[in-house]
Amino acid sequence: MKKVIVIATVLLFGLVAAAMMISTPAQARTTFVTIGTGGITGVYYPTGGAIAKMVNKKRKLYNIRATVESTGGSVFNINAVLSGDLTFGICQSDRQYQAWHGLAEWKDKGPQKDLRAVFSIHPESVTLVAADDAGIRTIQDLRGKRVNIGNPGSGQRQNSIDALANAGIDYKKDIIAESAKAAEAPGLLQDGRIDAFFYTVGHPSGAIKEATAGKRKVHFVPITGLDRLLAKYPYYARAYIPIKFYPSATNKEDAPTFGVKATFVTSAKTPNRIVYAIVKEVFDNFEAFKKLHPAYSVLTKQNMLEGLTAPLHPGALKYFKEEGLIK
Ligand code: GLU
Repeated sequence: MKKVIVIATVLLFGLVAAAMMISTPAQARTTFVTIGTGGITGVYYPTGGAIAKMVNKKRKLYNIRATVESTGGSVFNINAVLSGDLTFGICQSDRQYQAWHGLAEWKDKGPQKDLRAVFSIHPESVTLVAADDAGIRTIQDLRGKRVNIGNPGSGQRQNSIDALANAGIDYKKDIIAESAKAAEAPGLLQDGRIDAFFYTVGHPSGAIKEATAGKRKVHFVPITGLDRLLAKYPYYARAYIPIKFYPSATNKEDAPTFGVKATFVTSAKTPNRIVYAIVKEVFDNFEAFKKLHPAYSVLTKQNMLEGLTAPLHPGALKYFKEEGLIK
């Protein structure tokens, strides 16, 4: 009797296992894709969420499940996309240029030929926030001050160094440079542990809201005298900080500065169908996408193809050609 039960149980398990094996190929396998962003109080993080949302809505059609990761920013994302740790990443247009050409953080490694552009997104401006009580009215006043220039891996770190160098300031000697993450900078400023910080970010951003809404009064420092910088670096353009988003900042008018664009990148190794699906969902539902963040208000389908240096991924190119966005 016992033997019969044992045999029956074994048979039953066998049947269940066989049924599971048969049912697996029938349910198409989900492809998981990861999107690298930035600090959670930046604009990359909600942007990754917005892109993921567009494609996840059609999960039944594409079998793609996109998830978002908070990261150290542009440089980290490019490297993680190229090493295969992330499928997609958001990065500044200047960093895409540098990675493609083997400059800045990629000087030793050389040109990153596997990098592929997908589309560009919102404009980002180099934002210098200083405490009112620190006596910083111009970038020159940063000399001798404690300034957060950004963590290694962030996009803004090189922008801070370039802005300082343009003003004749050596970040290693003339200021006390901190390397904290952008998400920590507002707290450090409010606690009096730094006098100012740089953040290259779209507006409005949670981090800048946090920095301007605290007890310690703060303002945006205008970054001017940019002719030389703009002539030297092809990827920088004039920009400004719209103070309407930050009513607690003590500026009376928008602060001039320079900026770049946020861009969406991947690796040449990412399958065409994945890239095509994401591009199609964002562009086919462009008006819905635009509503997901106020920083997207200036976007047009056409300007989302500007500011890219690496070659377009073939999955993106296919969609843009089909839609007549590229001839
Ligand atoms: N521009 C920043 C960077 O590349 C990130 C800004 C954001 O997270 O919105 O590191």
